[in-house]
Amino acid sequence: MRPISYSRASAVADAVAAVAADPTSDFLAGGTTEVDLLRQNVLLPRRLVDINDLPLTQIEDRPDGGLYIGALARMSEVAEAPAVRERFPMVAQALVLGASAQLRNMASMGGNMMQRVRCGYFRDATSLCNKRDPGSGCSALDGFNRGHAVLGVSEHCIATHPSDVAVPLMALDARIHTEGPHGRQVYAIDDFFLLPGDTPHLEHPLAHGELVVGIEVPGLRMARDSRYLKVRDRESYEFALASVAAAVTMEDGVIRDVRLALGGVATKPWRARRAEEILRGAPAGTETFRRAAREELSAARSTPLNAFKTELAQRTMIRVLETLTSPESRPDPETPTESPS
Ligand SMILES: Cc1cc2nc3c(=O)[nH]c(=O)nc-3n(C[C@H](O)[C@H](O)[C@H](O)COP(=O)(O)OP(=O)(O)OC[C@H]3O[C@@H](n4cnc5c(N)ncnc54)[C@H](O)[C@@H]3O)c2cc1C
Ligand code: SF4
Repeated sequence: MRPISYSRASAVADAVAAVAADPTSDFLAGGTTEVDLLRQNVLLPRRLVDINDLPLTQIEDRPDGGLYIGALARMSEVAEAPAVRERFPMVAQALVLGASAQLRNMASMGGNMMQRVRCGYFRDATSLCNKRDPGSGCSALDGFNRGHAVLGVSEHCIATHPSDVAVPLMALDARIHTEGPHGRQVYAIDDFFLLPGDTPHLEHPLAHGELVVGIEVPGLRMARDSRYLKVRDRESYEFALASVAAAVTMEDGVIRDVRLALGGVATKPWRARRAEEILRGAPAGTETFRRAAREELSAARSTPLNAFKTELAQRTMIRVLETLTSPESRPDPETPTESPS
């Protein structure tokens, strides 16, 4: 048995100081990732600093029509917040389609941004894994990699980023606010998630002891008609094989503006910039959507087991774009409820 010391911080500065001072310490929020990995001997902290008493649970309006979501707001609270459901339905949908009701009540938004990959080899402390043990090798490259990524992969790691809500947040150009040993920082979400490259153990640019304190979602009018579509092996309690967050505005049948991001297929929440470029100013229609989706996935690098994801991601993009641009099926303002498991 490994002894672990536990303390509860009541101020942000104390939490930061406690973790920054001890390289063997971790923050503890809802514990839905941290405690699992600790039990599996994947994370080996000697000290846990519980942050649940910190005043970081707000969901506040911003003057630009956006929101500031505290890092300790729970996934379920954010999914139910009227401001999120009305102004950013794709965020509410992504949250409701993630994990289970019990987990969503425990899991925090900050913890969600910091959750670790679901790669089975990362989670098995006896397997070779560059992310867990840099330089040891990647068991997934020639192993069971059906759920692994096809975009943003490297020869050192192909693990898929698991978060659902990070996908619409990527489409919305959210900003992650942190408090750390070097003061306050604000990261563009695209810079907050790192590609594996040859350093897959580095998933974020954060210093040890740097605490996520909140997520800023800039106002975006077209996000009111946004949608998140998640395709998975079963309807409930499952991670995405492919997912798409999208918002579109049109004028006379032409796409004026679009935001598009992918989940389940990349090593980080993936902004589909190539597709956006093709879509902007083009006539809305299946042919255009197909071309944009094909272009986005042209950079895919797959294995025999996960090659289906390249096609699946394209079909999911086309489906969402067709739904958003079809007059008969404008997005339902109601957040979908999860089917009973
Ligand atoms: C069975 C199961 C199914 C799941 N399905 C889904 C799914 O479909 N979609 C999905 O998106 N997610 C899913 N998840 C993941 C879940 O959303 C995350 O475990 C959860 O969001 C983590 O939040 P937490 O508050 O519990 O974090 P914790 O477990 O407490 O922390 C996670 C990590 O982040 C660090 N951390 C926590 N808060 C902060 C902070 N504020 N600043 C800096 N570091 C911090 C911790 O030290 C730890 O390393 C699932 C999890 C489980 C167990
Ligand atoms: S894919 Fe990444 S997380 Fe999985 S075994 Fe390889 S290095 Fe580890």
